[in-house]
Amino acid sequence: MVPNLCAPVAFGAMTPEEFRAAGHELVDWIADFRESLEDRPVRANVEPGDVRAAIDTEPPQTPQPFAAVVADLDRVITSGAMMIQHPMNFGWFPANASLASVLGDIASSGLGTIGISWESSPALTELEEVMCDWLRQLTGLSPAWQGVINDTASTATLTALLVARERATQLGQNRDGLQAQAAPLVIYTTEQAHSSVAKAALLAGFGWHNLTMVSTDDAYQMDPRALADAMQADIDAGRQPCAVVANTGSTGVTAMDPVAEIVQVAAAHQAWVHVDAAMAGAAMILPECRHLWEGVEGADSVAWNPHKWFGTVFDCSVFYVRDVDLLNRVMSTNPSYLQSAADGSVTQYRDWGIPLGRRFRALKLWFHLRLDGVEAIQARLRRDLENAKWLEAEVHATGGGWDVVAPVPLQTVCIRYSPPGLTDGEVDSHTRGWVEALNTSGATFLSTAKLDDRWMVRVSIGVEGTERRHVAEVWTLLRQAAEG
Ligand SMILES: *Cc1c(COP(=O)(O)O)cnc(C)c1O
Repeated sequence: MVPNLCAPVAFGAMTPEEFRAAGHELVDWIADFRESLEDRPVRANVEPGDVRAAIDTEPPQTPQPFAAVVADLDRVITSGAMMIQHPMNFGWFPANASLASVLGDIASSGLGTIGISWESSPALTELEEVMCDWLRQLTGLSPAWQGVINDTASTATLTALLVARERATQLGQNRDGLQAQAAPLVIYTTEQAHSSVAKAALLAGFGWHNLTMVSTDDAYQMDPRALADAMQADIDAGRQPCAVVANTGSTGVTAMDPVAEIVQVAAAHQAWVHVDAAMAGAAMILPECRHLWEGVEGADSVAWNPHKWFGTVFDCSVFYVRDVDLLNRVMSTNPSYLQSAADGSVTQYRDWGIPLGRRFRALKLWFHLRLDGVEAIQARLRRDLENAKWLEAEVHATGGGWDVVAPVPLQTVCIRYSPPGLTDGEVDSHTRGWVEALNTSGATFLSTAKLDDRWMVRVSIGVEGTERRHVAEVWTLLRQAAEG
């Protein structure tokens, strides 16, 4: 008997018809959820273990109704998740998940294709090439750069340091391993750098002692003279400068290291320059912001996250290099089972980084850019920059113990309230106390961080739904919580 290939899939798997019905319901659920954001507490009001306790401890042996699963999305999951898309969320950095890009992500999952070679999905590879080029154009980078989409900026930094290591040793560490190098290789960044930089330096085998934190100026930007001095001191001590990770928008205070000067210093010692613009790269779609990474054309690699302020749903991080051949030499593998007739004339993204298989992340960028358009994204970012300037001015004008503690080049305003008569230590515990109380209230969410060993509050503006009225409201809440 000829099997009926159109019959529902055996073994109980969901059929396309069942998917159609459930999928419509799920899209409705997502739309309702997004519309309801402002009625929800920003931070999940749960204790450790609460979510786990609300979930069956053993896997189901038989199918459960879709309605039961969706009910648990409401009962267990939504109440146990931070409302990152809430317009009153000012925590960490924005991680916008534009609905246009969500559709692209759904399409990617629905297609169920994977990239392990060009042949495994030509569209996946070629759309990724074009999307990286669209973003290259949008951020004003020259055609000398070629890009790849990674999961995160942490991956990009690790990749950059691995390639830098191989360039500094003429591919020696790939050949003979970490033990082959007589002169220790040194990485340079600042205390303001994201924790992923130190992590990458350790994972790439450089070691803590060969990670130099270059001093910064009073705007928390790397001091290029101090960089030059540190490199010279290392050479004098028998070490070899290998790479500098420059911040364009550091994590705490969005500090902007002087890329042009860093590039010059690094060039004197053939050191690699990686520009970590994870958050601030989005701002480069605004021509008026590009002076913030002036000199970037002289760097060797640069990465930023469309999944932050730009608004392409997580995960989506773009990594650009100028020397693709070198990147490929360090990262390439060519197992027999992946060889095909197209080799040599196509891009093999497995040779651009660590993973073999890749998701079709370019689709969500494509959807996002086509459905929302560049102008709307630019206008939103400009709105956020204006809102940050407004808040900065309000804090300055208020005075009376309120300070803006770092420059505000973009959308993050770092502030502190020092009640009269308190010691620094007392101000620190006061700060942490009132921010925690505010976060517990659910009305808003802010993160605290240490700057010069003192606690401060970061108001990171930039959620898609955050308008001026929300910024005004958080300022009122801040004053009540801190002064009250
Ligand atoms: C967010 C951020 C990172 C890390 O981002 P992931 O993509 O989560 O790894 C690194 N550097 C800076 C400056 C960041 O803002």
